[in-house]
Amino acid sequence: MTTYKLLINGALVDGEAALEVLNPATGQVIASVQRASKAQAEQAIAAAKAAQPAWAATSIEERRAKLRQLADAIDARTDEIARTMTQEQGKPLTDAIGEIGYASLFARYFADMEIPVETVQDDEAYHIEVHYKPLGVVAGITPWNFPFLIPTYKLAPAVLLGNAFILKPAPTTPLVATILGEIASTIFPAGIVSVLVDDNDLGPLLSSHPDIAKISFTGSTATGKRILEASANTLKRLTLELGGNDAAIVLDDADIERTARGIAASAFGNAGQVCVAVKRVYVPEALYDTLADALGQEANALPVGDGLEQGTRMGPMQNQAQYAKAKHYLEIAHRDGKVIAGGEVHPGEGLFVQPTIVRDIEDGSPLVEEEQFAPILPLIRYGDNDLDSVIARVNSSEYGLGGSIWSTDIDRAAKVAQRVDSGTVWINHASHFGPHIPFGGAKQSGIGSEFTENGLLEFAQRIVISVAH
Ligand code: NAD
Repeated sequence: MTTYKLLINGALVDGEAALEVLNPATGQVIASVQRASKAQAEQAIAAAKAAQPAWAATSIEERRAKLRQLADAIDARTDEIARTMTQEQGKPLTDAIGEIGYASLFARYFADMEIPVETVQDDEAYHIEVHYKPLGVVAGITPWNFPFLIPTYKLAPAVLLGNAFILKPAPTTPLVATILGEIASTIFPAGIVSVLVDDNDLGPLLSSHPDIAKISFTGSTATGKRILEASANTLKRLTLELGGNDAAIVLDDADIERTARGIAASAFGNAGQVCVAVKRVYVPEALYDTLADALGQEANALPVGDGLEQGTRMGPMQNQAQYAKAKHYLEIAHRDGKVIAGGEVHPGEGLFVQPTIVRDIEDGSPLVEEEQFAPILPLIRYGDNDLDSVIARVNSSEYGLGGSIWSTDIDRAAKVAQRVDSGTVWINHASHFGPHIPFGGAKQSGIGSEFTENGLLEFAQRIVISVAH
């Protein structure tokens, strides 16, 4: 059995314990991964702190070159990483390959970025410039839904700026993160990239540590709040990418086929385990039956199975806790609405949930109000003159990550989009993101943003240099 190691001070090392990693499609143990102790986390932080000033002193060209090397090495190992990802995470192999391609694309995108120097005043009285410096040691704490992409898109901007980066992946998908560490160990100086696998126990140590200047976190809102609390004592910089309950608002002139296809692709991608998946759909009375039927057909046509099998388009839930949550929401679906597609789990060891469409359900049901993070989609009906009230209901959520509007009248859709309180609103598609598009949540979906220059500079300390003439 391959053992997947920690990366501490440039060396791939064993932990003081090991963790078994399960394949959610089969329930079988696929590998054993090394798990870091608190003492090893302290070693990694000390090594990162010691190494960071020399790294920050390198030229940006040198750091760009390392990131491009990283992207090339990721590309060269795509097949191996993808197979490992499908086995530990569950997603279909083609989606895993896509995720890895996106990771190297993000690494290259950040490698090409400039660290700006801005002149904000230049006259007879003053010359004032704004510079950006690394923060020091940055930790990335990441979830299990995109276990390779999210670590890579945090690592790249962090190290381009001259920070040292410590990755703590989710304990149920640590294998591909340790492969990222193994690749990084051949490219970056000792201490600049570290990987600490834990069993959900090292987060508080990282969040409260005085030698960690920033946490870049992606995960649930509940954990985000714990990080905010734990980091208060050191006033750490934080980027929090948290949960969402994205609404799709269908307008009465929507194209049924396109809308059904687009909503199903978003709601069932990665088995619904996507922060920006469509999680509730508001449909006008006039289109309700037709769209419900079309979505039911989309759900029924989706091949569900082991992601390694050819033709699979949706895999299992990633872990037992999420599977239990999905079963809870299936019960609610049967209680509060009418299930017209799916509605059951598959018997056997795998954590499979059928793609499920729930109609005749209303606001107030937990399946509508909460983040299900599962392929169980509620359709809420609204009356002819109710669009204002729908927007108000959508905005009454504590979340504000994304949302989508579906219409053949783009101007009309854009006006509705402007009224939705969330970080992104898509029109006639959903869940789309990329390194050139700012990404972040409103309200309890997060603090700060990722990607673009804005995201890059969240890994920097702004320094104003002001000269009096
Ligand atoms: P989670 O919050 O349970 O775990 C995320 C990470 O936090 C894991 O690495 C975990 O080990 C760590 N962690 C656990 N307790 C901690 C603590 N007290 N302090 C610090 N770290 C701690 O989330 P999850 O279940 O892995 O992911 C699902 C959630 O993530 C969903 O809510 C989803 O919407 C959200 N998500 C958001 C985005 C986004 O960009 N906004 C992207 C993907 C997922």
